[in-house]
Amino acid sequence: MASRMVRTVKGDVPAESLGPMLPHEHLFVDLRGPYAPGYAEAEPERVVAVVKPYLAALEAAGGTALVDCAPVGVGRNVAVLRRLAQSTSVHIIAPTGTYREGFIPAAIADLSVEALAALWVDELTQGMEGTDSRAGFIKLAMSEHGPTEIEVRNLRAAALASRQTGAVIASHTIGGVVARREMDILEQARLDLRRFIWVHAHTEPETAVHVEAARRGAWIEFDAIGAENWHPQEALLQATLAFIEAGYADQLLLSHDAGWYDCSQPDGLPSPDGFRGYTALFEQFIPALRAHGVPEQMIYQITVANPARAFSIG
Ligand SMILES: [Zn+2]
Repeated sequence: MASRMVRTVKGDVPAESLGPMLPHEHLFVDLRGPYAPGYAEAEPERVVAVVKPYLAALEAAGGTALVDCAPVGVGRNVAVLRRLAQSTSVHIIAPTGTYREGFIPAAIADLSVEALAALWVDELTQGMEGTDSRAGFIKLAMSEHGPTEIEVRNLRAAALASRQTGAVIASHTIGGVVARREMDILEQARLDLRRFIWVHAHTEPETAVHVEAARRGAWIEFDAIGAENWHPQEALLQATLAFIEAGYADQLLLSHDAGWYDCSQPDGLPSPDGFRGYTALFEQFIPALRAHGVPEQMIYQITVANPARAFSIG
């Protein structure tokens, strides 16, 4: 039997060869969107100079793989990701897909579900933007009161592309109301929700809603670790413990949503907080889980086995 593979920028890697993997981070972002002058442009060497120390710190902390979650529309730059992947032994996984309404490039705005799915399948199986680097998953985003009409189109295209490739869909989704609508649409499109990651699930305060989504099959991702300004860390810890206590540790993903090189800034550093690194999970959050009695085997499950299974393809 062929082993399960995680599809990185440099090629496929056996999922079981990976150690801790961060399922939601950022290396390079342009939140100005695709209609801004100079969108997603940067000299790859400058990006490497800024980002490389943070990848080295991740590696020193024990991390072996990082999923970059900036899709087309908020700065995906394949040349930059390829250059970064060359500079580090941390495996980098890149997305196909697109961001929410308002950030969707004109070239794909009017495509049918089938045509958009075909484009994404091509990026997952052949390569992105004329390179031999293949995307490893499908990233989407929902508006705060979405999904809007074009976001429903994106969901249906993602479901079709996922069913054809086995790629997981990770979707930026604020709160349980939008998550429910989104999962309904994906199920109508015959997606097995085990191929769906509810990104930013910590924005929903109720554990019961996390459990409801997990029962339907979804991955629940808490991805604000180390970001006290975005989400109080004690609340994040309590939500994590409650979800584990409910019996769903094998559907939990943890990440920082950290980084990144911001190409709209002259120094490449995001304003006002600067570059946030990728090590708080290892240095703060896992020790806190241990202190609350979470056993070692469960920490392995959450940080190694779960992301390897979620991001296995094919
Ligand atoms: Zn993110």
